[in-house]
Amino acid sequence: MKLGKVSNSQMLKEINQQKVLRLIYTEGPIARVDLAGKTGLTQQTITNIVNRLLSENVILETTPVANGGRRRPIPLIINSTNMYAIGIELAIKYVRGTLMDFQNNTLKEITEYVPRYENEEHPMEYIFKVIDQLLEQVPDKEGLKGIGFSIQGLVNSNKGTVIYSPGLRWNDFPLREKLEERYGLPIYLENDANLLAIVESLNGELASSEQSMIFKFDYGIGSAMVIHKQLLHGANYVAGELGHYKAFTDDDAIACHCGSKGCLTTFASISGLKRNGGFTLEEFNKAIRTNEPEAMEIFNKVQAAIAKAIANLITLFNPEYILFTGRFMDKIGDLMLPLIKNDILDLIPDSCQNVKIVVLAETPNESKSAAGLVMNYFFNIPFSEFY
Ligand SMILES: [Zn+2]
Repeated sequence: MKLGKVSNSQMLKEINQQKVLRLIYTEGPIARVDLAGKTGLTQQTITNIVNRLLSENVILETTPVANGGRRRPIPLIINSTNMYAIGIELAIKYVRGTLMDFQNNTLKEITEYVPRYENEEHPMEYIFKVIDQLLEQVPDKEGLKGIGFSIQGLVNSNKGTVIYSPGLRWNDFPLREKLEERYGLPIYLENDANLLAIVESLNGELASSEQSMIFKFDYGIGSAMVIHKQLLHGANYVAGELGHYKAFTDDDAIACHCGSKGCLTTFASISGLKRNGGFTLEEFNKAIRTNEPEAMEIFNKVQAAIAKAIANLITLFNPEYILFTGRFMDKIGDLMLPLIKNDILDLIPDSCQNVKIVVLAETPNESKSAAGLVMNYFFNIPFSEFY
């Protein structure tokens, strides 16, 4: 049982170091004495941890504020200009990568457009190409703390696999393992809608909300649910599959790539619009603004289906906020969302009427959010501490 003891004390050491690091991150400049006070750790433990972090160049000592000749404790800050993160937005039609420092400055952004992924290994070629180019731009390789991913597909962020993404041609794909092998860096994966929920809940539109739902209408449909500030993952990490909500019936129920039929995504997404409506988003946008009957029929059908699906979810989960985003809504949301909002308020019971409906002005740059994922993990205290 000696092994267990060793790893426990190692774990404790890591947790204490993370506690100190996180405090310097959230409250710095902060002096050693205050770190001891706030963590409850001894002065000696704080000294050891601080010395280690200083030698690793993760934190810096700054100049104390002068105080009439009295010696003041030296404040510590995060050495954020010397730390970097790469964020990758893995979309069906492109791979975008951003290199950022920990002060949120963008050092370099690269986008590779993809005509079509031909096989399981094909996305990796684009990913490697983008990461390799960004790596050349990192001012100090020691300072690179990891690579974060925002992925249009179902992701098991815990195992580091992509469970399913038809557009990427992946089924239970071990993405993290493949990247760790090549780069030897920490790799963090998250589904695009989940990542958006994390970012908006930390310091965006949903910062004041404990319960919210995010709906992303894009190439496909993504959604995320935040319950008591925690993401709802579901038993198989596939919660929030709004795209396969059964929304259309009878003649409108078209076969879906998931094997079922009548799914919301068969019309209410960029890919569904093209496959089953015969319009690109651009064409559809023009057609509905000139009232073309064929386009208007689809518009009305999609609008009513989205409103009904989301009204049912609001009735079931009683969120404080719901948020709309995605390129589909960026393009036609000015016409469609006011109608959806009206329908939702008509359909939900009185008890849920105070739900706030928010629309993001523009779909955020997800490669930057993915770099933020690295920063968030870097300063996070391991969850194991709480069990
Ligand atoms: Zn489906």
